[in-house]
Amino acid sequence: MKDFNPADNIQDLQYFGEFGGVNPSITDSSTYTFLQAGKMEEIFEHEIEGCYLYSRHWNPSNKYLSQALAKMEGTESASVTGSGMGAISNAILQLCSSGDEIVSSRTIYGGTYAFFKNFLPKFNITTKFVDTTNIEKVKQAITSNTKVIYCETMSNPMLEISNISALSNLAKEHNCKLVVDNTFSPMIFAPAKMGADVVVHSMTKFINGMSDCVAGAICGSKEFIDSLSDVNNGASMLLGPVLDSFRSASILKNLRTLHIRMKQHSSNAMYISSKLSSDGHKIIYPGLAHHPQNELMKTMMNDEYGFGGLFVMDMGTKEKANQLMEAMQNANVGYLAVSLGSYKTLFSAPGGSTSSEIPEEERMEMGLTEGLVRLSIGLDNNPERTYQEIVKCLNSL
Ligand SMILES: *Cc1c(COP(=O)(O)O)cnc(C)c1O
Repeated sequence: MKDFNPADNIQDLQYFGEFGGVNPSITDSSTYTFLQAGKMEEIFEHEIEGCYLYSRHWNPSNKYLSQALAKMEGTESASVTGSGMGAISNAILQLCSSGDEIVSSRTIYGGTYAFFKNFLPKFNITTKFVDTTNIEKVKQAITSNTKVIYCETMSNPMLEISNISALSNLAKEHNCKLVVDNTFSPMIFAPAKMGADVVVHSMTKFINGMSDCVAGAICGSKEFIDSLSDVNNGASMLLGPVLDSFRSASILKNLRTLHIRMKQHSSNAMYISSKLSSDGHKIIYPGLAHHPQNELMKTMMNDEYGFGGLFVMDMGTKEKANQLMEAMQNANVGYLAVSLGSYKTLFSAPGGSTSSEIPEEERMEMGLTEGLVRLSIGLDNNPERTYQEIVKCLNSL
């Protein structure tokens, strides 16, 4: 994607605060005044540029952050939510009605899996889970009731890469929408540029990058984003996953350094995973030549941002995985914690934690075994030093 640069697009945004501040002023109001009563009636009908009604609907701080996210993803519009799950559940509930079907990747975030598998059937919305790296399998799962094809650009936790252009063509052929979770790979991939209709994020991870809040985003066409905040029918307006404007303002500032952080996360993860792989450890990292989608990823990724900050190490057994994680925390390689995309390295064993919502049988089928340790490499200044520490931990087991 040579002609699209998310970092340049964000850099080109110019906001002035209320008093000429270099950062936009934070809006500290739940509700907004109207000078003419008629205008208030009008905004219940449709959005009016620069006019605000109530903070759950829209507020200026959320608007600024949304604009920046739309620039990053190359979509017409975007909206922000109080969590990644808020973004995913609202986007899906806006698109699907009773009787509709979803064809989803089987390797997705545990919460999304549980939402699809356990929660949506209450609304008579059902999901078929398939391997979305296999286009034939996706095709076979589609029926005339399929409304949404869902995947993660880089999947959690197996780091599989789905071919977004091919899935988009399939979605168009069958008149359904392609929804892509790009949480693991902001800037690296621009799924909408490859044909995705809706791109969702957990901003809790790389986008904010500070492990200090939970937030989400939905990026898509102006028509779709406007429909979410429709006063009568919008999922975001009616289910109410609004992001607080103070958080919105702080995430916008962190977004300004995302490109630098992604480069550092990626180069650190590449360095450490390559070395561990050369030492004979079983590593899953999309930047390594033996990864099944390494070549595909090269054809899809934006220049400069690397192959991402996460890799997975297969320790064989749960005991070994746990021992390694405890040793790494004691050596201050990072924290034994769920989540990812932080300035500090975070690691967890997805089998028993973030993917435990997925039944064991299905986990085994996708290779999600108990010995896996997922590492989200931080912004470490010297990856060789980190690698040496990890080696010491491995040798101590
Ligand atoms: C964390 C995560 C989510 C959920 O986001 P929250 O902000 O925790 O609600 C969704 N998708 C992926 C890929 C994630 O890593």
